[in-house]
Amino acid sequence: MTHDPLPPLRNVIERHDLRARKSLGQNFLLDLNLTSKIARQAGKLTDCDVLEIGPGPGGLTRGLLMEGARKVLAIEKDARCLPALAEISQAYPNRLQVIEGDALDINPLEHLTPPIRVASNLPYNVGTELLIRWLTPKQWPPYWQSLTLMFQREVAQRIVAQAGDKAYGRLAILSQWRCDAQIVVNLPPEAFSPPPKVSSAVVHLTALAEPRFPSDFKTLERVVAMAFNQRRKMLRSSLKSAAPDIEDRLIAAGLKPTERAEQISLEGFCALAREIAKP
Ligand code: SAM
Repeated sequence: MTHDPLPPLRNVIERHDLRARKSLGQNFLLDLNLTSKIARQAGKLTDCDVLEIGPGPGGLTRGLLMEGARKVLAIEKDARCLPALAEISQAYPNRLQVIEGDALDINPLEHLTPPIRVASNLPYNVGTELLIRWLTPKQWPPYWQSLTLMFQREVAQRIVAQAGDKAYGRLAILSQWRCDAQIVVNLPPEAFSPPPKVSSAVVHLTALAEPRFPSDFKTLERVVAMAFNQRRKMLRSSLKSAAPDIEDRLIAAGLKPTERAEQISLEGFCALAREIAKP
């Protein structure tokens, strides 16, 4: 059982008339035991500031605060949610800051003190874009220690996929090059109100101090994008425009020119990016 001084979320939603809007990707979690469980996956929160995108009526926000987050910074686009979030602020004095706005336009760093973790049940329409921004900052290590994020299950599988998996592609490479990534909770549609059409999953990503294998980021990005844009083709053909002597470079990287992108491990792509970066 959880200990939370506030009314049940169903009551909050009714009282503030928070009917879910599809255009904002609103599928709310109403079970505080579940939101606490997700918050616990984010790691030790007591000495961290937590960034949450899209708190909605505050189910996960309450979970994060119950689990002891030093401070939660919540960015919410839907102004209708603000009165419900203000009640949470009152119940947890000085520990919740809410900013109304679009998470894509706001720099959260101005409001956070390290160490910082990110935990969110992301709106599906901006979820992947936010993840890519968090994974590709100008400097590494990034400002955050970990990301604990709810996605549609199919997106979560793309993040943790390994070479040979159907879901393996650019998102797996980007995620795993500089992070440990794993699915930590699976949720059926009925966990949400209203239930979405698909299942969901929470992914936990921990930032590594350094990339798993050395590689220049821009070259790796370019090679991976080219290889997966034509994932059914052999590398010697999909990467033809990367270098005139691509077959030699593939061999120098320890790869077979006849292999396809989905067969190449992260280590293999990094070796190839190093070969292609050579003059
Ligand atoms: N965290 C709540 C929960 O778990 O019940 C709500 C999650 S709901 C899937 C996504 C939330 O993100 C909604 O409250 C929605 O209004 C908000 N949202 C949608 N687009 C947003 C954006 N661009 N910036 C900030 N919040 C956004």
